[in-house]
Amino acid sequence: MALIVQKFGGSSVADAESIKRVAKRIVETRKAGNEVVVAVSAMGDTTDELLDLAHEVTPIPAPRELDMLLSSGERISMALLAMAISSMGYVARSFTGSQAGMITDAQHGAARIVDVTPVRLREALDDGAIVIVAGFQGFNRDTRDITTLGRGGSDTTAVALAAALDADVCEIYTDVDGIFTSDPRVVPKAKKIDRISSEEMLELAASGAKVLYIRAVEYARRHGVTLHVRSSFNNNEGTLVLNNPGEGDAPMEQPIVAGVATDLSEAKITVVGVPDLPGKAAEIFTIVAKAGGNVDMIVQNVSTAVSGVTDISFTLPKPEAQQVLRALAAEQERVGFSAIQHDDQIGKLALVGAGMRTNTGVSAKLFEALSAASINIEMISTSEIRISVVTRADTLAKAANVVHAAFGLDGDDEAVVHGGTGR
Ligand code: ASP
Ligand code: MG
Repeated sequence: MALIVQKFGGSSVADAESIKRVAKRIVETRKAGNEVVVAVSAMGDTTDELLDLAHEVTPIPAPRELDMLLSSGERISMALLAMAISSMGYVARSFTGSQAGMITDAQHGAARIVDVTPVRLREALDDGAIVIVAGFQGFNRDTRDITTLGRGGSDTTAVALAAALDADVCEIYTDVDGIFTSDPRVVPKAKKIDRISSEEMLELAASGAKVLYIRAVEYARRHGVTLHVRSSFNNNEGTLVLNNPGEGDAPMEQPIVAGVATDLSEAKITVVGVPDLPGKAAEIFTIVAKAGGNVDMIVQNVSTAVSGVTDISFTLPKPEAQQVLRALAAEQERVGFSAIQHDDQIGKLALVGAGMRTNTGVSAKLFEALSAASINIEMISTSEIRISVVTRADTLAKAANVVHAAFGLDGDDEAVVHGGTGR
């Protein structure tokens, strides 16, 4: 008997009808002779609505109480899903994160899983029950409080359960048919990928691909969990995310480029007129780090001998920009730079592919494609298997489409998008 973990996101359980549809799907998997464990997200936009509600009550909700509030969203969906399955004549039992043995550190709102002790889940499975677990939440042993794993945390719940129960596969159900070569909402000719390496998936997720959360991919990679990302609206095969996609009976033909990710969530800050002296970059990025800035790309201009100063630009998530700007401004005199600029109209495009390691000319082709479309590149950064560029926000979609075509990724048909958010 195989053990299958299935994760259903908020858009798959948005209302009573969807919950019944998902219940049917779970029962089919059980009927096929599998043990089934389900991790479920809160219905639709419940988490956002609860967050709004908290902020209507107080500008800064206490982190402990916020986790109590937000974790209730998944309790609603798990119980309703168990009821729906029961009404179909199958035994289902729902469990909160803490009942499921999801042990985390004490960091409210961004807790990390430190241990998974799924004793009660194993018992329920042995009783023949279908197990439903509330995603996104855990329990800290020291504080004895409920925690949440951070937005989108249900993916991580599912993967952690799959690892702890030694599941055969962790199926992530979403409203698209799998992982695409680009976001089909941005690049209509994006194609579904059949198999992708966890390494490439990590880079895509880190570069803004929203279909899978990076922490879930990291966890799966570390624990050797096979992910199957597929649609909850049809029975099509989705995308397998594997540590070694070339292994097994279906060796993958390795394309040079796996996909093109786009990201409009970052802002650019430029520190102008930084004295070109040892230690200045350290001073600046210490200030940035202390202000909570998660820096992504960095570019330092060449300084001329005459001026003796240089400009340093970096990108970071938009919501962190204001705090970082304030912190930098407060230290302007000490560090000795002349001005700060803030630009929140940037877009980031990332080209990802393990084949870049062994193929030359990938960057030349990327830059040519952008230049042919008259798109200006403002920043560039690379890893071993990724090239990222920053452009104007309003040219990002065009950039993604031309780059996608240039690397031969375009499919023949327009991709089907079933739902609204990709989650
Ligand atoms: N309900 C949580 C959120 O919206 C967790 C999840 O959906 O995975 O972030
Ligand atoms: Mg959600």
